[in-house]
This record gives sequence, C-alpha cells and structure tokens, in this order.
Amino acid sequence: MPDVMPEPEAVIDDLKGAISSLEFEIEEWDRLVREAKLRVEARRDEVEGLLGLYAASLIAHEAVVDRPLLREIYWHHPAVRVKSLAAPLGVSHAGAVHQVVGPLPTERTCTDCGTALGQASRSNARSYWGAAQWCPSCADVHYSEGRESWQREVAERRREAQAAEDRVNASLQDGATPTMTLLEMPGEPGLWVVKPDGSARRAMDDDVFRDRR
Ligand SMILES: [Zn+2]
Repeated sequence: MPDVMPEPEAVIDDLKGAISSLEFEIEEWDRLVREAKLRVEARRDEVEGLLGLYAASLIAHEAVVDRPLLREIYWHHPAVRVKSLAAPLGVSHAGAVHQVVGPLPTERTCTDCGTALGQASRSNARSYWGAAQWCPSCADVHYSEGRESWQREVAERRREAQAAEDRVNASLQDGATPTMTLLEMPGEPGLWVVKPDGSARRAMDDDVFRDRR
C-alpha cells in the first residue's frame, strides 16, 4: 500500500516550524559570538594595560629595554606615554621618538608608485599625513606640481585682467560709450551710478560686482 501524500498545508506548516527553529538557533549563535567577542576584547584590554604598566616600570627603573620592544610599546601600547620612551631611546624630546621608532606599515600603498605606506607617528593616524595617498617622494612631486599649476593660474588671471583693461581703454579711445559710469564724489563715501538722464544714484553691490567671476 503506497504512502498517503501529506496535505500541502501540513508540509508548509512543518517547513515553517523548521525555519523558525533555525532562526532561533542562528540568533542564539549570534548572541554567543557577541558575548565571546566582548570577553576577548575585555581580556585584551586587560593584557595590554598590564603590558603597558610593565613597560612603564621597566622604563622608570631605567632597565635596558631593547628597541624592538620600545617600538612594540610605541605602536601597540598607547597607555605608555611617548614622553617616557624618549630617554630609553636616547632622544632628548618626545617629538623625536617616532623618528627613531620608525613607521608602522599599513595596508595602504602609494597610488602612484605602489610603495607601501607607513603611519609615521601615533598622532598622525587620522591626520592629513596619516591619510596620505602618496609616499613622501611622490607627494613632493604632486605638491610642487600643485604649486606650479596654481602659479600658472594666477599668472593667467593677471594676463586676462590686463587684456580686459587694454580692451576697455582701446574702446574708450575709439569713442565707445559706456553703458554705465561709476562716480566717486569727494566727501561722499561709496560709488555712484550715472543714470541715462545724467543724474546719479548710489551704486549697489550688483552694479559693481555683477560681471565678476
Ligand atoms: Zn610613491
């Protein structure tokens, strides 16, 4: 005797039940993973804090601390102040510590030449240099190009202004009539517009600036 085919509604109900129990399981796993991550993070903070304290006490006791360890402390134990690393590294001030320690490699590469980019110091992670897209030598090229193109632009604008002035003077010499004349009256601040009937009105910003770009 063949099996009786189950009713479609029953099959759907079964599937729905299976799906909701899977969803419940997934939520449970997510919760466990979140909790585990929090525990790991707390533990890491704890260990880092202890390492930082240990390093600080080594430094305070003028123990001989080797450079790789100092480098490790500089980059990975921010609880230890940069100032306290200066003496063990043999530099006179905190500002020189990062130079002795050397940059921290990052995932980023120079967009021009592909050189790996390092973070130069603790403090420049979020700064302009920390976010730089070019290595120092490509950056130099870009900045000098930028300066040159800016200088070219300024020179170009000066030439344009001079050319406009020359054109206007030539037109006036040819007897052209201006459509608007601005007056400056002694003792009256500001500029005045001469109207077609020969009388004057105070000039608005618009009269003066309308053609400026
Ligand atoms: Zn480069």
